Amino acid sequence: MFHVKQFDVVVVGAGHAGCEAALAASRMGLSTLLVTLDSKKIAEMSCNPSIGGVGKGQLVKEIDALGGEMGKNADFTGIQFKRLNTRKGSAVQSSRCQSDKHKYAKRMAGLILDQPNVSVVEGEVKNISVDGARVRGVEVFWEAGSAEVLCKSLVLTTGTFMQGLMHCGEIKSAGGRFGEKASLGLSDCLRKQGFSLLRLKTGTPPRLIRSSIDFAQMEEQTGDRNPRKFSVWNTRIVLPQVSCFLTHTNQQTHKIIRDNLHRSPLFGGEIKGIGPRYCPSIEDKVVKFPQKDRHQIFFEPESLDSDWVYPNGISTSLPSDVQEAFVKTIPGCQNVVLARPGYAVEYDCIDPRQLERNFEAKNLSGVFFAGQINGTSGYEEAAAQGLVAGINAALSVRCMPPLILSRTESYIGVMIDDLVTLGVSEPYRMFTSRAEFRLSLREDNADIRLSEHGYRVGLLKREDFAQVKQRKYKIECLGRYLRETQLIPNEGIQKQLDRLGSPQLSGPQSLNQLLKRPELGLNNISQLAALPGELQVDEMCAETLELEVKYEGYIEIQKQEIIRLQKMQQLSIPNGVEYSKIAGLSTELREKLSTARPKTLADAANISGVTPSALSALLYHVKKKKGQGKKGSRPVTPSAI
Ligand SMILES: Cc1cc2nc3c(=O)[nH]c(=O)nc-3n(C[C@H](O)[C@H](O)[C@H](O)COP(=O)(O)OP(=O)(O)OC[C@H]3O[C@@H](n4cnc5c(N)ncnc54)[C@H](O)[C@@H]3O)c2cc1C
Repeated sequence: MFHVKQFDVVVVGAGHAGCEAALAASRMGLSTLLVTLDSKKIAEMSCNPSIGGVGKGQLVKEIDALGGEMGKNADFTGIQFKRLNTRKGSAVQSSRCQSDKHKYAKRMAGLILDQPNVSVVEGEVKNISVDGARVRGVEVFWEAGSAEVLCKSLVLTTGTFMQGLMHCGEIKSAGGRFGEKASLGLSDCLRKQGFSLLRLKTGTPPRLIRSSIDFAQMEEQTGDRNPRKFSVWNTRIVLPQVSCFLTHTNQQTHKIIRDNLHRSPLFGGEIKGIGPRYCPSIEDKVVKFPQKDRHQIFFEPESLDSDWVYPNGISTSLPSDVQEAFVKTIPGCQNVVLARPGYAVEYDCIDPRQLERNFEAKNLSGVFFAGQINGTSGYEEAAAQGLVAGINAALSVRCMPPLILSRTESYIGVMIDDLVTLGVSEPYRMFTSRAEFRLSLREDNADIRLSEHGYRVGLLKREDFAQVKQRKYKIECLGRYLRETQLIPNEGIQKQLDRLGSPQLSGPQSLNQLLKRPELGLNNISQLAALPGELQVDEMCAETLELEVKYEGYIEIQKQEIIRLQKMQQLSIPNGVEYSKIAGLSTELREKLSTARPKTLADAANISGVTPSALSALLYHVKKKKGQGKKGSRPVTPSAI
């Protein structure tokens, strides 16, 4: 089976986390083995055929900026692109695309199979072999036998497969995903290695046959007229763009669901794993929101070449006959044919508080975890973790310092920080509200924020990084010009302002000040004051500059806050601190801190379970002890450390 039995990095799992991890490690020049249960299911979209969304679009942009693949793959295989929240503030605007799920998986699989340094093997990893507290390799099983493969770093990305148990009404079957077997064995091995595991659950709706649906009874939802791609690199939107359709459930749908709750594994107590509150099943919605007489459903095509449609909003684990009955009550679905029933899956994952910020296990050197196995949900969350874990697995082989992304510079850093300090009580997904500095962590500036890391670790080429530096330089030059150039009002200018619906000038004003007006864009400014040719910028630079100017005040406050927090991280904690006396700390944290005796606030933040509010309490105590805590002054919340 194996010609080579020794690799620098072994990645277990070829989902969204595993693909990014394997590509990152191999592109960084390390020999990489990707082991997966089914090599025909590489980069499979288990649920919704889409990439991005609110909070998730930011993750995709950051993956792209670091040199990952998800954004590029989404561009080449997207069939409807849409900017979300465009009527809201720029901090919460995100990109989403409807993907052709078959083409998405095919292109990603092709990249991996063509990638030098990566070997793909179909098999099941059941054991991790160790030398003391360090990984030695994995034991891979397949029908004809098993073999030990040695590695210096191991990345585990088993998704929903560990002890996967699928539920569809009364029917239960072992499996990680419809038609795919579960991973049995690895959970026990992890427990033996001292990991504590959790049981979570997620679900998916039935798939419907397109030709059996009457879309005329639904509301057409087209994509953006000028679709914008995810990647800042050399990609194109190449596939024909298609529509989605909006419809709703109704009282009749809800009655059928309510009448059959006794057959639901969710309500009958069969499902023990905890599901995502923010993404409830339709039976959950009907029970929890009895006052709502309808719930919206988006009908999304799965692929240009398939007759399957994904009804987004009716995830369910009710029996298939009940699913068919309630779907038929939905306008346009009277004659619907189900291609496949919906189901729920329970699976094992680890408590992510057992991980360092580089995703390496605290108790087992060289073992990294990424994706759903860390208690998250979603392709984007998985891919972002896979990329960071793959990079760090490679850096560890090279004995180089890890890549640690902070929550002040990235959404990925926010996610990592949340996972390793707070852990999870339900599948974790990204929201813009999780990022305190979201106004600075926008989609448009992801490349400026993060590409230096991608270049430093070797995932971005010199010319890619040079392109970003050039973009940054252009924005700075034009920004300076706008600040330094005054517009002197004359009759022509006042008339133009009238035409643009903007108040006339009472005297000279800087172009920067003028751009702060909500009704004016950079294109208007360049009409009012012809900008020098060498300062002309493209649409991307214009967007970043406009946002930086319009939100200048808020962004500056965030910058100061970040600097203050960074300084605070260096604050030393005196030796004699009595943690048992600090108000606001749990008994568990008091014990942990007393044992660890961190030297700085940053060290304290790295201890699992140390929450932002615990840090706040510690900071207040330390400052008071040092005589800096002013009487009555409120402790700051160092939530951004
Ligand atoms: C039924 C269902 C519903 C979902 N609903 C949603 C949703 O509504 N919203 C959302 O955001 N996300 C949803 N998801 C989750 C989404 O699919 C995952 O978050 C994402 O795919 C996780 O990526 P991953 O790489 O961590 O794992 P996966 O994509 O699950 O990939 C895991 C990989 O590991 C391999 N593997 C597992 N164990 C072993 C082993 N021992 N040896 C070798 N290979 C192994 C598998 O073959 C597979 O290739 C759903 C998933 C499922 C299954």
